[in-house]
Amino acid sequence: MILPGATIGIVGGGQLGQMIAQEAVSMGYRTVVLDPTPGCPASLVADQIVAQYEDERAVSKLAQLCDVVTYEFENVDGDALRRAVGAELLPQGVRALEICQDRAKEKEFLSAIEVPVAPYRTVDTAAELDVAVSQLGYPCVLKTSRGGYDGKGQVVLHGVEDLMEAQQLAETHACVLEQWVPFEKEISVIVAGNGSGNFHAFPASENEHRNNILYRSTVPAQVYKDVLKEAERIAKVVATHLDLRGVMGVEMFVLPDGRILVNELAPRPHNSGHYTIEACDYSQFAAHVRGICGLPLSDPELLSAATMTNILGEDMEEALSRIREDGNLFFHFYGKAESKLGRKMGHITTLKKVENRAGGTSHF
Ligand code: AMP
Repeated sequence: MILPGATIGIVGGGQLGQMIAQEAVSMGYRTVVLDPTPGCPASLVADQIVAQYEDERAVSKLAQLCDVVTYEFENVDGDALRRAVGAELLPQGVRALEICQDRAKEKEFLSAIEVPVAPYRTVDTAAELDVAVSQLGYPCVLKTSRGGYDGKGQVVLHGVEDLMEAQQLAETHACVLEQWVPFEKEISVIVAGNGSGNFHAFPASENEHRNNILYRSTVPAQVYKDVLKEAERIAKVVATHLDLRGVMGVEMFVLPDGRILVNELAPRPHNSGHYTIEACDYSQFAAHVRGICGLPLSDPELLSAATMTNILGEDMEEALSRIREDGNLFFHFYGKAESKLGRKMGHITTLKKVENRAGGTSHF
């Protein structure tokens, strides 16, 4: 076990790194982040090494300063990380990273452990795309296997009119073509592990996206109890097969008949889990720190219904005027120097006692 007083290294100093560091500091750990941007969000609460993620010497230096190393995003080169840090300081390992940073590997992994995903084909050329489209039909969505996030590197194909744009993507990137899923809801589960073989799931949140970026997460998710149970079971199956240490976000589609398909895995704290900071007895960030340090975990309790809304660059003014007027808003601004369209600048959580909720379509 890595106990308070030790130093936690975090590769990546964005808002997730910042919130991991905040929680770690409040537990009595020291924190160092590695990030190329001087004054990155996590540097408000942690020491910073300013370097590129690919700079193995800098990552080694981070490891020398730390008792354990984690990461806040999945697009880190796993081999380089293992070389620079060494397996002993990296309880999460690199397998989850390698699976989650490649959609084709992710889907293959999920299928192998019998977790349902949308029908898909791997596609590396325009010719393969044509075959895959004829097999899966319209509508479908072409996604680059690596490097995409928040809808970047994706083409939705409604019909032949979208084929040319998709062919260009397929010619330049290894891709996955997925059948378009007529889902009723998007939900996600944050699951945590600490090496004991037991896994603990946070209550599923219901997620609304706008322009492919998470807009709002609500708990409890308004779905039947059986769906919640199945979502939790699936998240734990995935965690078990990855021997998860720390937390992972499992994004899912709920179909009209209640079946669940897994869309994506994120081997780190997840935007849809920010509600846990105020609404649960401990947060996803606390769970992550406990998990990577090998400390015990309990089953998280939802203390209050909650809504978490992201603040993007274009929402800053409105968000600032809301927090001037309303004392019931729990606001988090990440301290990013520049506000840009679509950039996540902060989030606001509102709480509502579970007992006071009325109506709704779920079986709560
Ligand atoms: P992703 O980058 O895979 O998380 O996709 C971004 C968003 O696009 C998801 O949150 C969904 O709202 C939507 N989406 C992605 N894949 C599909 C699909 N196969 N069917 C329907 N909607 C999808």
